[in-house]
Amino acid sequence: MRNIFEKIYSGSKEEYFKRIEQLLKEKKKKFIITANPETIMTSEFDNDVRKMLLDENNDIIPDGIAIVKASNILDIKLKERITGIDVASELLKLGNNLKKSIYFFGAKEEVINDLVKIVSNQYPNIKIAGAKNGYIEDKDEVFKDIIKTKPDIIMVALGIPHQEKIIYKHLDKFKKGIFIGVGGSFDVLSGHKKRAPKIFIKLNLEWLYRIIKEPKRLKRFWNNNVKFLFKMRKIKRKGDQK
Ligand code: UDP
Repeated sequence: MRNIFEKIYSGSKEEYFKRIEQLLKEKKKKFIITANPETIMTSEFDNDVRKMLLDENNDIIPDGIAIVKASNILDIKLKERITGIDVASELLKLGNNLKKSIYFFGAKEEVINDLVKIVSNQYPNIKIAGAKNGYIEDKDEVFKDIIKTKPDIIMVALGIPHQEKIIYKHLDKFKKGIFIGVGGSFDVLSGHKKRAPKIFIKLNLEWLYRIIKEPKRLKRFWNNNVKFLFKMRKIKRKGDQK
C-alpha cells in the first residue's frame, strides 16, 4: 500500500494547476485519479483499481484530508489536499481560457442539463462536446460517443470506483484528453447541492458536513475512513513495506 502513497502528488494545489494547464496546452493524455480512503480501500480487493493507481501514466491527487493524514503516518509528506471539485473547477476555467472542448458524463438528467446551461453561460469559450446522464444502462456506449467527439477534457461523475473503472477501461482508445472522475461535483457545480460552508472546508471538516446533510453517508464513512486510519496505523507499526 505504501507504493500507492508514494505516487500521490505531493506539491501544492497551485503547482498542480500549472501542471494541468501545461498538459492541456500540449494536448496530452492524462487520467487524474482522486484518491480518498474509499479508493485506497477498494484497491485492497479490486485488481483494476490497484492497477490504475500503480500505473505510472496516471496522476493521483490527495482528495481527502484522511489521505494527507495517512501519508503523515507513513512519513510521506504531502503539501495539501487537492479535491476533485477544485480540479474540476480549474479545468472549466482553463478550458475557457484555452478554448478547449469538454464532455460531461454522469449524474441525473436534470443535473446535467443545468450544468450545461451554467457552463455555457459562465464559460462561453468552452465547447461542450457532449453531455450524458449517468443512469444510462449501457455506459460503454457513451464512451463510443466520447471517443468520436475527441474532447480535450472528460469529466465522469458516476461515483467511486465506477467512474475510475470505466475511464481506465477505455483510456487506451484515446490519443489526448484530461480525464477525471469527479464524484458528486456535477451536483454541486449545477447548483443542485451545496458544497460545505468555507469554514468547514478550512477546518478540513467537509466530511462532517456531508454526513450531517446526508446521514446515510455515515456507514460509508465508517467503512472507509475509520477502518482506513486504523489500517494505516497497523501498517506503520509493522513497518509493512507492501
Ligand atoms: N451517479 C450516476 N449514476 C449512477 C450512480 C451515481 O450518475 O448509477 C452519480 C450521482 O448522481 C452523483 C455521483 O454519481 O452525481 C456520485 O455522487 P456521490 O456524492 O456519491 O460521490 P462522492 O463524491 O461521494 O464519491
